[in-house]
Amino acid sequence: MVRANENYLKLQGSYLFSEIGRRVREYRALHPEAEVIRLGIGDVTQPLSQEVIRALHLAVDEMGSTDTFRGYAPDLGYDFLRETIALNDFKSRGCDISPDEIFVSDGAKCDCSNIQEIFAADSRIAVCDPVYPVYVDSNVMAGRTGVYDSGAGRYGGVIYMPCTQDNGFVPDFPQEIPDLIYLCFPNNPTGAVMSKDRLGEWVAYALKIGAVILYDAAYEAYIAGDDIPHSIYECEGAKSCAIEFRSFSKTAGFTGLRLGYTVIPKELSARGVSLWQLWARRHGTKYNGAPYIVQRAGEAVYSEKGREQVKEQVAYYMENARIIREGLAAAGYSVFGGEHAPYIWLKTPQGTDGWTFFDTLLTKANVVGTPGAGFGPAGEQYLRLTAFGSRDNTIKAIERIRQL
Ligand code: PLP
Repeated sequence: MVRANENYLKLQGSYLFSEIGRRVREYRALHPEAEVIRLGIGDVTQPLSQEVIRALHLAVDEMGSTDTFRGYAPDLGYDFLRETIALNDFKSRGCDISPDEIFVSDGAKCDCSNIQEIFAADSRIAVCDPVYPVYVDSNVMAGRTGVYDSGAGRYGGVIYMPCTQDNGFVPDFPQEIPDLIYLCFPNNPTGAVMSKDRLGEWVAYALKIGAVILYDAAYEAYIAGDDIPHSIYECEGAKSCAIEFRSFSKTAGFTGLRLGYTVIPKELSARGVSLWQLWARRHGTKYNGAPYIVQRAGEAVYSEKGREQVKEQVAYYMENARIIREGLAAAGYSVFGGEHAPYIWLKTPQGTDGWTFFDTLLTKANVVGTPGAGFGPAGEQYLRLTAFGSRDNTIKAIERIRQL
């Protein structure tokens, strides 16, 4: 008789957002007059830029004419987009990445969850704690972990790397030797960044132990300083040990449009097997390409006007981040992140646990954050706030928290 993939039964995942939803619903039912502001969402709120809209209209018109109609897109993405990406995101930063090494997709979530398929089933994975849950859950589904230990808040067989105030929310090398190392900087949920020197040390470490770094740079557009790397390929040797994920979601407001890409250098191999070839094979077998009109919209992000407009969107969110960070710091809270990332990692006052503090904010300030415990046990005494709200709501929410 047929059996389900029982690895799925190990998953804990959806508890966090369903529990937040339940608590907000219950509060609203009792206080229908309350104007609840959500600073917990990880979705953008600003509309697409005019250049992107213009490109979409043009591409839609092309699809309506026999001469310019396009059917299936090339598996790995249209050349016009891959060439633009290679030039603007990599060559301009001194990274020798060719268009051929770029795999266009419909977003970073699919890529960073699917990438584990091209590695051996018994690969040991290392993740940060707290962590973007997709890295862990995709490995749970693939059977690469043991069961969930609810006391520890962790899955068996996974190497967790605590990211705490003591290490500046940047992981130390783990005691055990991993095969795959997931790193995400600027980080969701902590908003931390890694210096180029420190990332260079991770690259050297991966090369030494023969591991591959899976580097999620979905938030690179939010980096404000010169000494923070936008790409892992800015570090020497990374082409031999790293895969990088990028997304247009938070960079250009494409969360509803869907576009991203993954970089796999041709020289990257696992015991002599080309990972580029395996991913190309996987892409060809399981994926039929991002839509033409969306790839044209992605191209427009790199035009002169597109770049300016997208920069303004990022600046809008980063001004929200500044309002949150400085407002809460002035009220005596310990806050982290929010300088090179749209996430603010707020320490709960007097060691309260995250859920208790969540309830205080909800009931006393009518503000919704995301309890840090949902990203791992090291997040227990934190709350994640995001800068993706409207300016008015952000200002109002911080004023309310300050008056608590
Ligand atoms: N990676 C990280 C760290 C994220 O926070 C997110 C979205 O929240 C993604 C990837 C997903 O990006 P996309 O919308 O391109 O699938």
